[in-house]
Parts: sequence; structure tokens; C-alpha cells
Amino acid sequence: MKKGYFGKYGGAFMPEVLVPAIGEVERTFLKFSNDPRFLKEMNDYLKDFVGRPSPLYFAEKLSKKLGVNVYLKREDLCHTGSHKLNNCLGQCLLAKYMGKKRVIAETGAGQHGVATAAACALLGMECAVYMGSVDVERQSVNVFRMQLLGTKVMPVESGSRTLKDAINEALRDWITNVETTFYCIGSVIGPHPYPAMVKQFQRIIGKETKEQAKEMNFKIDAMVACVGGGSNSMGLFADFVNDRDVEMYGVEAGGTGEKHAATLSKGRPGVLHGTLSYLLQDENGQVSEDVHSISAGLDYPGVGPEHSHFKDSSRVTYDNVLDSQAVEAFLLLSGLEGIMPALESAHAIAYVIAKKEKFKGKNVVICLSGRGDKDIGIVTDYLKGHTRSKV
Ligand SMILES: *Cc1c(COP(=O)(O)O)cnc(C)c1O
Repeated sequence: MKKGYFGKYGGAFMPEVLVPAIGEVERTFLKFSNDPRFLKEMNDYLKDFVGRPSPLYFAEKLSKKLGVNVYLKREDLCHTGSHKLNNCLGQCLLAKYMGKKRVIAETGAGQHGVATAAACALLGMECAVYMGSVDVERQSVNVFRMQLLGTKVMPVESGSRTLKDAINEALRDWITNVETTFYCIGSVIGPHPYPAMVKQFQRIIGKETKEQAKEMNFKIDAMVACVGGGSNSMGLFADFVNDRDVEMYGVEAGGTGEKHAATLSKGRPGVLHGTLSYLLQDENGQVSEDVHSISAGLDYPGVGPEHSHFKDSSRVTYDNVLDSQAVEAFLLLSGLEGIMPALESAHAIAYVIAKKEKFKGKNVVICLSGRGDKDIGIVTDYLKGHTRSKV
């Protein structure tokens, strides 16, 4: 396979001025990904700062209700509330080893922003986070969290004022401040080496799952994870890609049906933010401004290039569920198991609920990518405007 490519997808489509910076990131990543000092420091932080390993939890009541053996990989218990910190710690530590003083990031739900802010506070680095003004409004608690952690939040007013536009602004900042600044990307997207690097920092999810399933003495039949950019799913899947008898499902945001963020289900290949991958576009090939999901973390018109490859090669099955299904899953897991999932993660749960006949009697690992406290207001508002169907 060509360097930086997954099948025909990936690459590094970047403005000339960023080519040296990306080369430097790649060289540093290759140098330190096998460096014992870096790995020890990283592992110490993962254990004592993030709180790893995260449990693999048998959800007994949900399992009984669905007739499916459901195991939840509890990334919601990671510090700052999601899997995002695994990657942020890795990249920010790398930035420190590179001698950079400043880190910038983009954020949608605010989860990546908060995780980057926490990592920068830990490592004593300056941090600025770009966030679409729509997201600033719907995730105001996370804005305050970032500020408390010493980060400057930069609201973005261009385009659809969501994640895609925040990435554009962060790239603009990087071009201006490339000497001092490291760009910490929040998912397996962007130009090479980011998709490979983020996957490397997130594969701890699957690595632990493999060991835990062995200890708990069961064989995994299927794995299900939500897909925004695709990092929690890639982290879970990475160590199982060659286990052909483990089925894999990536669940995208079906939104309202009409408006959605189901990039792999409904998009076609194109270039966005430095990578060739499936993309939601209008008739003229412009990136769609009409992307929607009830969960800010899935509200992105692109997706990681390796997922595009997995779609074309059929290694992973991609599907989507509606906002309404995600909300029902949020309510069900909260009431039944005492675990409030992030609305993003609720998409993965909703998929297993919808396909319970297909998964009947099977051992299914669902990546519970984050906790739902941040979404309580959104769910409350949603329920005011909708009558509930029964699950
Ligand atoms: C950001 C986020 C996602 C979506 O991002 P991926 O890169 O697809 O994992 C999913 N769940 C939670 C809790 C998130 O914060």
C-alpha cells in the first residue's frame, strides 16, 4: 500500500506551507512511537491520569431484554468523559517532545477540546481550541470546562458554524503559527500521518478489549461502535481486523432521515481537510452545509479514510440510525443499567436494539465512547418537542 493511503483513500492534500510541518509530525511520530521513554511516560499518564484500563462491562439487564450478550467498553469512565483523551495525550506529549510550546485543536461536541485542554494543562502547554458558534451554544458547559482548564476558546462564525468550519479555522491558525504550534486533530481524519497516528493512540481500546474478553472467557462475535470521524470505532477495531470471524459494525448519524451525517452510507468520495475519503457533497461537489445530527460529535460531513477503505472492502458494515432511535437508546440504557451514554455512543446501542434479531444469542461488544451528562439538556429539549415511541 502506498504510504499514507488505505486502498485508494487517504493521502495528504495540503497547502504548500504546511508540507514541512506535516513532515515533521510524521518523523517525530515514527521516532517516538517506539521510544521506551515516550512509551513509559505515555503509559503512566494513561493509567494514572486517564484512568485506564477502562472496564469491559457485561450489561446484564440490557442483554436479557434484547436476547443479545451485550458487553460495554466503558470509555465513558475515562477522565474528561470519553475516549478522546487517549489520543490528545499522545499528540500533546509528542508536541512536547518536538519542543512546541502551543497546541491548537478543533472541537465539535467539545469533547476533543476539553480533552486537549486537560492534556495541555497536564503538560504545561498553551492551548487554543476552535469551535463553531452553533456548537459553542449547544455545548456551553464544555466551553466553560475548557476555559477552566486554561484554554482559549475561539468561536467560529463561518459556514455552517460547526465542526467542519472549526477545522478550517484551526488550519488557518496552523499556517500562520507553524513554527511554534502543533495541531492536535481529534479523529482519524486529516492528512497523513494523522489517521495512522490517531489510530495508534486509540488502539488501546481494542487491545484492552481483547485481553478482557479472554479473562472473562468469552469469544467476541461482533463489535459495534458509532462513527463520526471514526476514532473510537477504529480504536476498537484495529486489533481485530485480521480476526475474520469477528464482525464489525460502524454506526453513523441518520439524523432526521432527511438531514443526516451518514457519510459512508450516503456520501461519495471527495477531498476534505487534507484527505480523500467518503464525503457528503451537494450536486456541484461542494461539501454539504446541511449536515445534521442530534449529537455534535457525529455532525461532520467527512470520515476517516481507512473507514472508506473498510467500506469498499466490506471488512466493516456501515449503517445509520435516526436521532429518535439514539434518544430512545439513551433513555433505555440510563434507566435499565444506570449508565447514561453520550448521544454519540447511544447510536451504537440503538443499532444493536434495532438489529437484535440478527445479534440474537451473540456476544457483542459495544464501544461506549463517552458519558451522557453533557447531553441531558439536549435530550430534555428533544423530548419536549417529540412524542416518544416505545422501544
Ligand atoms: C467525538 C466523539 C465521538 C465521535 O468521534 P469518533 O472519532 O468517530 O470516535 C463519539 N463519541 C463520543 C463520546 C465523542 O466525544
